[in-house]
Amino acid sequence: MKEARYHEAGHAVAAHHNGYTINSITATAEEWRTNWSQPVFIGPADAWREACVTLAGQLADDVAAWGEMRPEPWEEYLGEAEEQREFVEEGHEDVRGDHLWLLEHLGEMVAYHSWGDSLEACYREVVEDARRLLAEYWSEVEVVARALEPTGTLEGAGFMRAVQEGATRVVESGLGA
Ligand SMILES: [Zn+2]
Repeated sequence: MKEARYHEAGHAVAAHHNGYTINSITATAEEWRTNWSQPVFIGPADAWREACVTLAGQLADDVAAWGEMRPEPWEEYLGEAEEQREFVEEGHEDVRGDHLWLLEHLGEMVAYHSWGDSLEACYREVVEDARRLLAEYWSEVEVVARALEPTGTLEGAGFMRAVQEGATRVVESGLGA
């Protein structure tokens, strides 16, 4: 379940750095889930933030699986998202995953016209922004993923301790320790 731990750690660290409060994280064989509360934002940045937090899970588990972030090419991503949407429209809500959540956030971004007029342009923007965010805070993702190892779960306080430990590590290595 290494990929689940990195996936949820990616969502949680990205959400934390976007001002959300992490309540709990679960990364087990049965359940992949990060529970957060978010402040009420108003305006286009809200859709963009949600999109980045959504994509961060997949990018983080790419690193666990491949050793690097491998965002899907647009066509491939869209194909999977549209497939999920068809199932959900037929009443299979359980098929809904990050691909479809992201597509809905991209739709909101397009409606605001702040990132260009196409879903693809918005997707590219989100890929770059989520990648940059995770790269900047990667040591935190590592520590959070490791903290999930024993039980597959972490409460908010445990998450914050892991994030602080990860952040300290960067400062130490920045000093050449
Ligand atoms: Zn996810």
